[in-house]
Amino acid sequence: MDDTDSLRGGCTTEVLFRLIQQLPTDVNVGQARLVRLWPFAQRRTRGNAAVAVELKTDDESALLQFLEGYWNDFILPLRGDVQASQHSDREQFPSDPGMVWFSKVKSNELFYRNGLRQEIGEKDLPEATKSWGGHGKIGATLAVHWPAKTSTFEAIAWRMQENTGPRKLDEKAIAIVDQMKETFLCRDGRLGASMLAPRGSSPVLFGVRTWTKQSAEEALQILIDATNTEPVAGSIVFETNHATNDHLDESLELQIEAIEIFKGGHALLHSTTERFLAFKESGQIASICQELRVGDVVECKGLRAPDGSIHIEFLQISHLVSNRKRPLCPTCNKSMSSMGRNQGLRCKKCGFKSEDVWDESPRSLPMNQWFQPPPPSRRHLAKPLDEQPERQNNL
Ligand SMILES: [Zn+2]
Repeated sequence: MDDTDSLRGGCTTEVLFRLIQQLPTDVNVGQARLVRLWPFAQRRTRGNAAVAVELKTDDESALLQFLEGYWNDFILPLRGDVQASQHSDREQFPSDPGMVWFSKVKSNELFYRNGLRQEIGEKDLPEATKSWGGHGKIGATLAVHWPAKTSTFEAIAWRMQENTGPRKLDEKAIAIVDQMKETFLCRDGRLGASMLAPRGSSPVLFGVRTWTKQSAEEALQILIDATNTEPVAGSIVFETNHATNDHLDESLELQIEAIEIFKGGHALLHSTTERFLAFKESGQIASICQELRVGDVVECKGLRAPDGSIHIEFLQISHLVSNRKRPLCPTCNKSMSSMGRNQGLRCKKCGFKSEDVWDESPRSLPMNQWFQPPPPSRRHLAKPLDEQPERQNNL
């Protein structure tokens, strides 16, 4: 299902959690999945994630009857809510939930790939055994067909409905979970702030991201069992496409033809054929881009936005033109200037002449090292550079 975010700040993961809790007892619940989709989708929800779960039953028609009832009673009423959003600069769409059921699923690599890189319409969807609702069917169908060739995990726990104040999460337990080798993005390294709990009115108490399912279960238990953690309504370990870089293609190398720096610190790099955008929020990437010059060569990875520019998510410098200045006049300490091709240099003030030479000095920007935005400004799909599982060390 997808697009069920409600005014209460409710999120699609919680709607799936409640559905699973009420399933008929003979239904066997398999792996749940949380799949992030194209970040530029026009009607995207916050974080643009859809959810799915594998259900096994001997009585499919009874299950469909249950889903029909659940849809009408609990999901359909969420339609039309406009979510509270931090992004007031873009058009808000009322939620338009969708749910799909596929009796048999063949994962579809190309469909998933397109779902991460471009707008998908309802007409592009493989036909479901049964479907409910509107726009949310798109994300729902993508979540079902995600091949999960590489995946990570997120253990999510929800608050009791009566708890609406500040979240209570045990600090010691947070520290233990943060130290676990198989967890990632628990903290924003710069500020030391925990990233486990969402901000605002979400029903989620915390989400812990891990490289393995086992570590997700361990971390979940540590946090739930801790003395100072508030009681939870329940939890699910989701298989996700977080930190897979599935949305990115091979890196592109560009030689810079022009650079524009915008108010606020965003930078736009032009190559002969492409435009690459570094947002101020991308931290070191933006500050490096501001220092780049025509002729420098950088390697980038990022998604192409609807306006055709590529939004930089990974950047490394492969070549820097050297600093070239005309030498100073030994008397006046002012830069000398060229008198024309092969005519030598001259000081405009005193007339001192010298050979046609440049003073070259290397620039101090870091070469051959990848950079990415700080954790809060990263896409969920982006793989952290500094926290990699041991078995997959390459970008
Ligand atoms: Zn001089």
